[in-house]
Amino acid sequence: MLRVENLYKSFAGTEDVVTGVSFQINEGEVVALIGPSGSGKSTLLRCLTLLEKIDHGAIYVAGEPMVTTAPSGEVIYAPEAALRKIRLRLGMVFQNFNLFPHFSVLRNITEAPIHVAGMPPAEAEALARQLLAKIGLSDKADAYPYQLSGGQSQRVAIARALAMKPDILFFDEPTSALDPELTGEVLKVIRNLAAEQMTMMVVTHEMAFAREVADRVIFMDKGQIVEEGTPEILFGRPANERTRTFLGNYN
Ligand code: ATP
Ligand code: MG
Repeated sequence: MLRVENLYKSFAGTEDVVTGVSFQINEGEVVALIGPSGSGKSTLLRCLTLLEKIDHGAIYVAGEPMVTTAPSGEVIYAPEAALRKIRLRLGMVFQNFNLFPHFSVLRNITEAPIHVAGMPPAEAEALARQLLAKIGLSDKADAYPYQLSGGQSQRVAIARALAMKPDILFFDEPTSALDPELTGEVLKVIRNLAAEQMTMMVVTHEMAFAREVADRVIFMDKGQIVEEGTPEILFGRPANERTRTFLGNYN
């Protein structure tokens, strides 16, 4: 579903932030991305979702090249029309929800399907109501973001991403802005999506959750993948000393 080859990314005036990352995510797989603060997790996710341009490497979505690098070193993105289509396949849920504050919950969910994907409004609204039922917020369709708790806001943000019917959904620390008592309701929604075989990559500091929901865990440090494997192996008997040290800080 997603293949990443030798990806590099730096920002003006910084050392390389992502330095030669390769991995793939198969259809229906849930991958947890863990690692210390500053290790490049968000930057990697932003490169995968076209929010940042890469410096080198290749990304393929469902076999289609989103970006490649020529032998000369030139980074070549797919033509704009192809890129637009690929972008529709990639959903993103942020730490701080990023809901449109001046739109109702319903309109937050229908906006992109109608105006970006060209879905008929009635169909978009039906889909939005169906998604609200799924996340247990049918009664909030007409509420505004300021009237929601953080957990409810994040569930709406997930519904909004799902409304675009993405092939793969990326989460960047979806619960880290929430009070502890609100993380459970968001994790439950993600858990249900995993049970429905939604392909997902989740950056998280919730190790118990990663262990429970992920098919595979990738540990990143200093811009590189240090180790990856099943939760049993990565959490149970990590091979790398850096992984052990990192996980040790959580025990
Ligand atoms: P955290 O767990 O704290 O969210 P992270 O693994 O997501 O950390 P990134 O946010 O990807 O880490 O940041 C990696 C490095 O890149 C950091 O040193 C950060 O300061 C730097 N960085 C990220 N975005 C930018 C930017 N737009 N401009 C310059 N430097 C940046
Ligand atoms: Mg981050």
